[in-house]
Amino acid sequence: MTTTFDPSVGPLLAPEHLPGGNDAPRVDDVRAAAYTVPTDHPEGDGTFAWGSTTIVVVHVRAGGMEGTGWTYGSTATVDVVNTDLRGVVLGADPTAIPAVWEAMVASVRNNMRAGVCGYAISALDIALWDLKARLLQCPVSQLWGQARREVPVYGSGGFTTFDTALLDQQLELWVEQLAIPRVKIKIGESWAGRTDRDIARIHHARQRIGPGAELFLDANGAYTAKEAIRILAEVADAGVTWIEEPVSSEDLAGLRRVRDCVSADVAAGEYGYDASYFARLCSAVDCIQIDATRAGGYTAWHRIAALAAGHHLQVSAHCAPHLHAQCAVSTPNARHLEYFSDHARIEEVFFDGAAAPVRGELRPRTEAPGHGMQLRSSASEPYRVR
Ligand SMILES: [Mg+2]
Repeated sequence: MTTTFDPSVGPLLAPEHLPGGNDAPRVDDVRAAAYTVPTDHPEGDGTFAWGSTTIVVVHVRAGGMEGTGWTYGSTATVDVVNTDLRGVVLGADPTAIPAVWEAMVASVRNNMRAGVCGYAISALDIALWDLKARLLQCPVSQLWGQARREVPVYGSGGFTTFDTALLDQQLELWVEQLAIPRVKIKIGESWAGRTDRDIARIHHARQRIGPGAELFLDANGAYTAKEAIRILAEVADAGVTWIEEPVSSEDLAGLRRVRDCVSADVAAGEYGYDASYFARLCSAVDCIQIDATRAGGYTAWHRIAALAAGHHLQVSAHCAPHLHAQCAVSTPNARHLEYFSDHARIEEVFFDGAAAPVRGELRPRTEAPGHGMQLRSSASEPYRVR
């Protein structure tokens, strides 16, 4: 098989060897835009604080169809899509996604794949899968085959900046109104400077959700391994079953140490962007978190999930709940996905076809082609910043 090679983008299959040959539809439009939505209240976790969320939405077109993907990150992602990656994707066969994916990754070598370039590649990859499924007139989950119809979710938010009334409001929404039997709150406030308040909030959350719901914690890397082990021992009666990033996700030895000392499952992976990091992480945690909107789209999701399966681990989706529902139902070792409050509220307003979970599970649409979601410009345009 012959390939064409442009040193700026790496090897791409020659058109005659692509599925559909020279007659295959070609990508004829690529564009991105950013929308910044203020939060209702100041939000923060152990190591970061914010007052708005920026979603970058990418569209690709071919054969008269449009595919949509998105990520959450800097508005600079728009420039990477519209300037650097547009030339790689334009003219490509949208059904030959591995070829386009490799070309995109090769093209950002000198700009570094971590961060903004990785976010741009992720959103484009998701848009291409959506486009491919729409061209084939099937749900995107059918391209991979479904392992289940729906995926369990957990309510996620519980910011350290919330007072008791706001925290209670969120816990009530998840557990009582949406019947989600799992919730996650942030701890590690002020880089572990407020462990007294962390402990009080953990006990309060347990008391508020009752014994029937699981309680998860996320320290966003605020603790040292010994601090995390001590805190979890102090709240042993709260029945915590998940501790996320008790230490920095770069500290694999620390993650391993906490994992081996606590009964809760230790999880990490939300900043991972390449397979070699996830391969190392598999030896340090109980559950691998994947963010398809950062790690390289649906293409990367399936590769990392297979890597985890090879280590007898499950995976959990980080944020962007409505995009992850699609790939999670096709992944036998997917445990659950994060119904993150900031992203759920944006996705359910911005996109037709993004419906709230029912009885603690998200069921992606299978009656519509692609991922079944479409940007509502009337809802998104007021927030457009790029
Ligand atoms: Mg987290």
